[in-house]
Amino acid sequence: MGRRITLFNTLGRTEMPFEPLEPGKVGLYTCGPTVYDYAHIGNLRAYIAEDLLRRMLLYFGYEVNHVMNVTDVGHLTSDADTGEDKMTVGARREGKSVWELARFYEDAFFEDCRSLNILEPTTVARATEHIPEMIELIQRLIDRGYAYHAGGNVYFSVDNFPDYGKMAGLRLDEQQAGARVDVDPNKRNPHDFVLWFTESKFPDQEMKWDSPFGIGFPGWHIECTAIASKYLGERVDIHCGGIDHIPVHHTNELAQSEAAFGHKWVNYWFHVEFLIAKDGKMSKSSGGFLTLSELEKQGFTPADYRYFCLQAHYRSPLQFTWEALSAAQSALSNLKSLYTGWLQEDAAGSAGDSSDSLGDSDFAEGPARSYLEEFDTAIASDLNVPRALGTVWKMARDQALSSGEKRRLLLRFDKVLGLGVADWAPQELPEDLRKLIEEREEARKRRDFATADALRDRLAEAGVVIKDTPEGTKWSYTPRT
Ligand code: AMP
Ligand code: ZN
Repeated sequence: MGRRITLFNTLGRTEMPFEPLEPGKVGLYTCGPTVYDYAHIGNLRAYIAEDLLRRMLLYFGYEVNHVMNVTDVGHLTSDADTGEDKMTVGARREGKSVWELARFYEDAFFEDCRSLNILEPTTVARATEHIPEMIELIQRLIDRGYAYHAGGNVYFSVDNFPDYGKMAGLRLDEQQAGARVDVDPNKRNPHDFVLWFTESKFPDQEMKWDSPFGIGFPGWHIECTAIASKYLGERVDIHCGGIDHIPVHHTNELAQSEAAFGHKWVNYWFHVEFLIAKDGKMSKSSGGFLTLSELEKQGFTPADYRYFCLQAHYRSPLQFTWEALSAAQSALSNLKSLYTGWLQEDAAGSAGDSSDSLGDSDFAEGPARSYLEEFDTAIASDLNVPRALGTVWKMARDQALSSGEKRRLLLRFDKVLGLGVADWAPQELPEDLRKLIEEREEARKRRDFATADALRDRLAEAGVVIKDTPEGTKWSYTPRT
């Protein structure tokens, strides 16, 4: 700690010094996945950025209590309460029960997170396991005059909460043309949102609970307020999500929380810009989206994708192309080769240089100290990871530093970057894999590309990534465990 951190706050749209509610401790809430399908790489970009935020706070010595919900009930195909229930649609598509579907995709999500080296939240909370907490909050909102019954459902009344549009800059008297054509006639104001649905809306709903408002299920937004307040208390330091959450989900969360608690809820709103495909937004509901396992099938590792994401600031849109991912893969592989080179030189050099990472007191001055300073300043400045990555490369190429210093600096930087540097080691390629690479070379020479491609796939499965370059075929090897 002691380092001045600034963060851009969506509420107020300014970068401001970060001050936690309690010195040295941070309560961090991130909206988790809706588990009706695999996460796409756009969703994963958001979780990588949030992981960088958490690692940066840990790096500067904060204790971070990180809470994430899992949306396994209540999210309709439109964020604004219209359309079908996403879980029901997913279950129908796959011939599973909604419960099976939820557990399956929750596991798949956390598996993706693990392979991307995303730290596990301190608490993961499923919406379906927090129904009593949601009911209590809804009751509180009714008692305080912020919610009403209509057509069997319970709605939050935005007109009773004058600050409703403060984060998104929405004006309640302005209807977004075309955006809300399918407005629920029960709503007094089109921005009102459902807190509790009863059976009347979806007679075939599998997930339902008894409540004072009738048998039914919660709306999407209330789960985050219930879960955040249960595990973090009624005030939260930082709340994260993708930018799509600003106008509806987070605006609604903010309104219902401040209405229920009677005071400010979140101090810093952290929103991650979108990963975009060439032809526009990448989304789950449009169907055509890329998953992490699809990238792996194409010969990329999760670390390649993580590195790709590090290259853009979290508040800039990032365009996905295979070429750009390939360039990230090469850069990462170059960094790995440099590092393993330093390791080897270092082992051959002085024994005194073998500690694992660079502590603050290791260098009072000199180039290593100034790289450390430059890196720390970059990440403390609204989490400027691309600038920090620039420092990494400058350091890696600097002749004035010893291999030992470079190795230890990179290990230290990796506490934030999360590329898994500590596991990088020079790899001996097993004989059978070397033979496969040679066979593939032969096949390419005979222009038998089908065989060459099949061999490339076999090699990829074994952890060998092949790259054909003008200087010949290159490979990198990370044994599969
Ligand atoms: P969902 O599972 O749909 O609730 O989304 C999970 C997270 O991914 C949320 O924080 C979204 O805001 C975020 N998200 C959705 N699409 C993208 C995208 N294309 N790029 C970056 N983040 C996204
Ligand atoms: Zn949420």
